[in-house]
Amino acid sequence: MLSRHLPHPEPTEEGGWRASPVDRHHLCYEEYRDGQWQRLEIEGEMLAGPPFFIIHFSSIEAWKRHPAWAHHRRDEIIDRIKSRFPPPAHDYEGEAILSAADRSPLIAAAGGLSDKPCRWASCTSPALHGKQFCVTHCYPSSLWRQPSP
Ligand SMILES: [Zn+2]
Repeated sequence: MLSRHLPHPEPTEEGGWRASPVDRHHLCYEEYRDGQWQRLEIEGEMLAGPPFFIIHFSSIEAWKRHPAWAHHRRDEIIDRIKSRFPPPAHDYEGEAILSAADRSPLIAAAGGLSDKPCRWASCTSPALHGKQFCVTHCYPSSLWRQPSP
């Protein structure tokens, strides 16, 4: 249990959340649920920077190994962690980690969506115009590392 004093007031109402660095290779995301802090450990890598920390979000498949309360909430939790650890001091790696706000300029830059499905196994999103894959699978890592369109 995390007991050290943190600089921010703690949102100790049901559903409150916080995210904090743990060490050179981990940060933690926590939610206050059922009267106590529930914790997810997220892996990462500290660098000389910038970015000073690259967050490695686990794949959709590996995310299922997190506790049940985090299942089906991968996008929401990733968005929260990104908001707490924003670029350019932080960068992100992982499958399908673009938020809706990240995706729309990429779709526009590609000339819109095609009428064909993405060819990534089990993906049901439409492919980008003139591409084989949807925006998520064309840009599997973070927006900040992509060359300008
Ligand atoms: Zn796809």
